[in-house]
Amino acid sequence: MVLTKQKVFRFTFTHFFAILSSVMFIVTVILTFKLLTNDHCNCPRKETVIQYVAKPKHYINKGYESNHRLAVLVPYRNRFEELMEFAPYVHDFLNEQKINHDIFILNQVDNYRFNRASLINVGYLETKSNYDYIAMHDVDLLPLNKNLSYTYPYQPFHIAAPHLHPRYHYNKFIGGILLINRGHFGLVNGLSNKYWGWGLEDDEFYVRLKDANLNITRPDNISTGMNDTFKHIHSKDRKRDTVKCFNQREVTRRRDRQTGLHDVNYKILSYKSMTIGSAPLTVINIQLICDRSITPWCNCSEDKTDKRKS
Ligand code: UDP
Ligand code: MN
Repeated sequence: MVLTKQKVFRFTFTHFFAILSSVMFIVTVILTFKLLTNDHCNCPRKETVIQYVAKPKHYINKGYESNHRLAVLVPYRNRFEELMEFAPYVHDFLNEQKINHDIFILNQVDNYRFNRASLINVGYLETKSNYDYIAMHDVDLLPLNKNLSYTYPYQPFHIAAPHLHPRYHYNKFIGGILLINRGHFGLVNGLSNKYWGWGLEDDEFYVRLKDANLNITRPDNISTGMNDTFKHIHSKDRKRDTVKCFNQREVTRRRDRQTGLHDVNYKILSYKSMTIGSAPLTVINIQLICDRSITPWCNCSEDKTDKRKS
């Protein structure tokens, strides 16, 4: 027994290098075989799968209409059902036009009254380095007519024009959906931050554009009309917050030369990526901060006077 063990030991020792190189050879052959078969496999790599979920294939392969990039900015609070319909619909609509775009849901999470204008200012600031134009886009307004173009606007382009919008028909109306390039939005100092609650922030923005001598353009040669160009998915339960308190009524009737993009006060609580149907989007959770010495009406509950009727 002892002799046999010694023999084995001696044999192993003298043939050590031969054994080692044989083992290494076998391992190399196995690894090479694995790599080769992997390369010829049709199964998608991990990154491909992720990319496919984020952006449908036709979007990547067919290329974009131009090199411009659009940030769709959607002021948002508590409109979940509308968002479920909006996101996949608008994403597909823009893909059909080959618009290179991303959708941002500007979710107001503080306890102040809703402030559509400040949310859009924040959306612009948070996205501007990567996009050269924005769409200020209500979550409840869906473009139905394929000829409504979302291409880069050399002048502000009001898609939800008064002759097409189902509800608002006055000439100076520029709400609903407005495309504006990044330079022009910066030039007019964005939107006023004084508009807490529903209404008038878009009318004030109209005056900003006019004062800057910008030309507001609108879709023409559209064969559909006020009832079939857009779908306004605004349910009756969605009451508009038309309360006016403190001196809100007087102040918000005037052009605001004080506030805008440069002084919007906010905190970003988080960024969340999500996908709704085919649509990838980013939710930005925004906490707006109100300076009550300038706009006490961001919260009407402390107004003891009798101005709360709309
Ligand atoms: N909005 C919101 N939550 C609110 C109020 C408004 O998300 O509590 C957003 C939403 O994008 C909506 C837009 O602000 O489409 C304009 O508000 P609303 O639809 O009430 O105004 P309308 O144009 O119908 O008068
Ligand atoms: Mn609406």
